[in-house]
Amino acid sequence: MADMIRKVGVIGSGQMGNGIAHVAALGGFDVVLNDVSAERLKSAMATINGNLSRQVAKKIITEDARKAALDRIVSSDSMDGLADCDLVIETAVEKEEVKRKIFQDLCTVLKPEAIVASNTSSISITRLAASTDRPEKFIGIHFMNPVPLMELVELIRGIATDDATFDASKEFVTKLGKQIAVSEDFPAFIVNRILLPMINEAIYTLYEGVGNVEAIDAAMKLGAHHPMGPLELADFIGLDTCLSIMQVLHEGLADSKYRPCPLLVKYVEAGWLGRKTQRGFYDYRGEKPVPTR
Ligand code: NAD
Repeated sequence: MADMIRKVGVIGSGQMGNGIAHVAALGGFDVVLNDVSAERLKSAMATINGNLSRQVAKKIITEDARKAALDRIVSSDSMDGLADCDLVIETAVEKEEVKRKIFQDLCTVLKPEAIVASNTSSISITRLAASTDRPEKFIGIHFMNPVPLMELVELIRGIATDDATFDASKEFVTKLGKQIAVSEDFPAFIVNRILLPMINEAIYTLYEGVGNVEAIDAAMKLGAHHPMGPLELADFIGLDTCLSIMQVLHEGLADSKYRPCPLLVKYVEAGWLGRKTQRGFYDYRGEKPVPTR
């Protein structure tokens, strides 16, 4: 089982996908980065190069390590490029029907002994596993954002995940220099089960007029020593992703305490998704972020 994983596929080259490709390549794995959008792939490769260069400038890695890591990543806009990977991590948008379709297409080309993982923030691993031809070789490997900086990875077994898959995934994550927290397969796992209701409550605090954006973020930064305010953090995660996670908690646990704040819904409906669209609880189009409420 040792060294079973050498070549890693990453499906989805957004902010999480490019981070996972980055740390896997630095960890010595060959990486195939896949996306439906050739344009997204191009910009992901540029982001990875920029982030590796920043690590060189900060003396975290050497210039040789940067070059070697970049050489280990190939991009492919076709599933066929993933066929001989030992592990494929799906990290496309947080929509169950999109993920299920990806797994169906992937399993028709992927070698049968390969492990399939999802970086989902909240969706049931057992249910996603059931849409593949190999539920025993399916696992949740949940990275935190930004991937190169955050120390933690959650590992989530589905009901059918076998020990060999769990052990190989644990070894893979350890080789990336990350710490593991094992979570049972319940909605949103550990980190987001605790973090997202706090963010949602911060949005209710804004919605009910208890405080404005600046006051709420300052309160939690200075009053609870959080490195980022909850609204700043929501913009960083992506308000669409925040809403999806709250919906999964609300539906999955059937408890009204998880109801998504109507103001969060409104921002998402407006297409104000946070940093990635330049506007959310803050407007990022100018030199400095300006609160939008
Ligand atoms: P993102 O919007 O930045 O990127 C999603 C990418 O998936 C896009 O490049 C898109 O083109 C691609 N994509 C869409 N459909 C695809 C398909 N059928 N095949 C291949 N690629 C496809 O999103 P993100 O923030 O990187 O999130 C990705 C996943 O990671 C989600 O499941 C999310 O819940 C999870 N996650 C996000 C965070 C976070 O803080 N943003 C943290 C941990 C986990």
